[in-house]
Amino acid sequence: MNFDDLRDWKGTAENLLHELQCQINRLNLSVESPTVRTIRAWRSKNLLSQPKGQKFGFRQILEGLATLLLLKKGWTLVSISQVLSSWNNKELEQQILVGVVGVDRVDETESIHSQESFTLFEPRKQNNLALAEDAIILLAQGILRQYDCVLTGTKIVRQDDKLPSELHSAMCKLGRLYLEEGKCDLAACVHDLLSRSRYSLNCEESWNLDILRDSEFPFANVQLIDADLRVPTPDCAEIAEISGGYGEDHVIENRLHTIIRTATERLGKRKQHQAYTALRQLLGRRSLIQEKELVNYLEEKNLTPLQETVLEFYDPVPEIWLINDFANRCAHCGTLMRPHPKRASYPDGCCPIHQCNSKYAPKVGERLDPKQERLLVAKPQILAYWTAPAIDELTIFDRAQSVGLDTELYPESDRCDVSINDLAVGIDAKSYRSPVLLASKLNRSIGGLIFYRQRIVAITDELIDDCPGYLSTLRSLLDKKSDTASLQIMSVSSVIKNIQEGKYAS
Ligand SMILES: [Zn+2]
Repeated sequence: MNFDDLRDWKGTAENLLHELQCQINRLNLSVESPTVRTIRAWRSKNLLSQPKGQKFGFRQILEGLATLLLLKKGWTLVSISQVLSSWNNKELEQQILVGVVGVDRVDETESIHSQESFTLFEPRKQNNLALAEDAIILLAQGILRQYDCVLTGTKIVRQDDKLPSELHSAMCKLGRLYLEEGKCDLAACVHDLLSRSRYSLNCEESWNLDILRDSEFPFANVQLIDADLRVPTPDCAEIAEISGGYGEDHVIENRLHTIIRTATERLGKRKQHQAYTALRQLLGRRSLIQEKELVNYLEEKNLTPLQETVLEFYDPVPEIWLINDFANRCAHCGTLMRPHPKRASYPDGCCPIHQCNSKYAPKVGERLDPKQERLLVAKPQILAYWTAPAIDELTIFDRAQSVGLDTELYPESDRCDVSINDLAVGIDAKSYRSPVLLASKLNRSIGGLIFYRQRIVAITDELIDDCPGYLSTLRSLLDKKSDTASLQIMSVSSVIKNIQEGKYAS
């Protein structure tokens, strides 16, 4: 049984009604034929996908039949419109023909999600794993694009045709996965989906999708949006790039680097690298700063020409983040603490940086009065991409310096994070939640570490505590024949220990 004689079909709503009736009879489907009014209603709800003003075609026959079958199985029109758009013609045909068999053989009460009525060509699980992977890559890309739009400050998230197409496709694919698992579609509302993206994909309470918790699903422990800072995470940026179909310009970190490099290059070759390090160090150590202190710092480092660029990395401290009229500085990383919803338990607020708040209990280092001096705080994307990773980078650098090693922070405009004895040792601190994504990044390139004799990748200790297999997974995924084979993978605390034991002294 197939639909070969219908592939070139075209017609009006009345013709489509007639054709649907013929097919219902031919395939012996136990569904009621729709009316012309119903067909028009389906079109207005986008269940029938032909563009406005154009005749119905073969695709609409398939969509009409599938809609009838799915309605009979208890699906809602909203769910059907989502799932239909994720199937191509071939898949739809298969679904309908399998549905035919299902209806013939299976009694009315049978679950809509039986293996039988939803087996596609490939085995079901592999198929859904691939679908889930695509959905999450698209979601990551959609989140980055959406973030790009919101960054300009003029657009807000709205569920209309201006939604990034990647986000829309991700919603359709996720919707299908929910429906196939017999669950309520949690991906139908873009706002809910974005807020859910602040939790790792394997979090049952937030996502409730078995396939995302499957041991073969590669992004299970990934969080796409930083829970507190509400910006896309580095893992998100990495996932978005996996398929290669996404321009690097859209990756936030890269864009920030371009801004800072272009600005420092204007200072001339001699000063450029020093300026780069000074700026990154500023954003790492003083993400909450008094305007006067910032101006003084730039003056002292001969960076006044960059003042305009640097000010763009900061926002004025908003009043809602003050606690009893003061801006509280985190005693550990130095950034602005934010009020916690549980005011009673956290009267001084909490540090918004995960790398800091997962390590230390909230503690105020200093209370700054905004009435005395204008206060600035680094923008969320700066906090996520520079301030947060700087916690490990600065710890390593400060320790190396304290034991008297010849060390440099972000040498040559970021060849690596910390170098020791010129080109003897290069260290990059990494805080990707997912070892799979970090491996994929390193396999593409080990970056500036290539210039160093000892090449060290230092992983945040908390990540290893959370996921004990982290280091071995990462090592096992690195290419054995390329530059990655020369990398030494270890925890930040091991690097510190080595420094103290004098292992990197010349
Ligand atoms: Zn902190």
